[in-house]
Amino acid sequence: MAHKITLILGDGIGPEVTQAAVRCIEATGVKIDWEEACAGQEALEKYQNILPENVLQSIKKNKVALKGPIITPIGEGFRSVNVAIRQALDLYACVRPAKSYPGVRSYYKDIDLIIIRENSEDLYSGIEFEEGSSQAKNLITQIEEYTNKRIRPDSGISIKPISKFASQRIVKFAFEHALQNNRKKVTCVHKANIMKFTDGLFLKTARDVAKEYTGKITFEEAIVDNMSMQLVQKPHNFDVLVLPNLYGDIISDLCAGLIGGLGIAPGANIGDNLAVFEAVHGAAPKYRGLNKTNPTAMILSAVLMLKYIKEDKAATRLENAVKEVIAEGKSVTYDLKPTPNDVTAVGTREMADAIIKKIRG
Ligand code: NAD
Repeated sequence: MAHKITLILGDGIGPEVTQAAVRCIEATGVKIDWEEACAGQEALEKYQNILPENVLQSIKKNKVALKGPIITPIGEGFRSVNVAIRQALDLYACVRPAKSYPGVRSYYKDIDLIIIRENSEDLYSGIEFEEGSSQAKNLITQIEEYTNKRIRPDSGISIKPISKFASQRIVKFAFEHALQNNRKKVTCVHKANIMKFTDGLFLKTARDVAKEYTGKITFEEAIVDNMSMQLVQKPHNFDVLVLPNLYGDIISDLCAGLIGGLGIAPGANIGDNLAVFEAVHGAAPKYRGLNKTNPTAMILSAVLMLKYIKEDKAATRLENAVKEVIAEGKSVTYDLKPTPNDVTAVGTREMADAIIKKIRG
């Protein structure tokens, strides 16, 4: 029977890379009945709503979605649709594997990390007060009363809630993920020395959860700034990382850098019985419609999706096909060539064609 899956093509390069991934999935022979749902710029133009309710309904009904990146203007306009989807569906665990593929140019070899980012709270909760607003002024007065500390009156304020509940479930998720994937170590990344009641709570909770896995999985802690340096110097010392939302976002881009760039970094947003699969990268608007960018990150996100829906054989075939094409280095996009202007680079579609050819043998 066909799997029914929601498909969101996204903005910018979203439609190109997502369609490439869809074609690759279809080439594996797995039957999927795609239910297309429109969010982002196109939805804004068509329905005056960047995230129409039917998108969330479709994902709730089908339980699984493949999603292209969606643009969020910086500092103004609408809030992130990507964050809104994760929050509305309580997709609390963001799983981002960072794995080296032979043939990709990088300073590092044999990287095999999994970044587990808490997806539901922290500075992404969207609770913000604009500089000069009456709410910001009231809040500043109240905080000064509570704390005896000064906040400049021309400040904007963003709130960082971190709960015991969400910390517990993400750390538990990380340990379970480590067990299921034969991993040996979970490192909790934090800044608890400075933010004692938020990151401090995250760390304390992680230490408590870790006790349940004593003898099965090793537990370590690292402060996020030090972790950034260690990842650059000796990434092979790490295995599974679990982090609050903001550090998870930043560190997963750093790890994408270790394996050769955003073009090959996949991701999944997972809740208790829902999952949305999307690349780590964004909509790269300057490349929109140019058939230029790398479809691998979306295709590897599709590999994660195939594993999630228990189509393991197809997932392995698809990943192996990607590996072969990258290792040959011929039919790959500009970012996987020795220089970005390499005239032998192929387009998004052509790289997907090469992968499909490998799948079909
Ligand atoms: P980005 O990831 O879109 O692009 C940054 C740069 O990375 C690009 O200019 C390009 O050089 C490279 N790149 C990205 N994807 C690539 C690919 N598939 N192949 C080759 N090179 C690739 O980051 P940005 O420019 O900061 O963000 C652009 C927009 O995307 C913003 O509106 C942002 O909010 C949004 N965004 C969306 C998501 C999401 O949908 N989950 C994630 C991150 C950013």
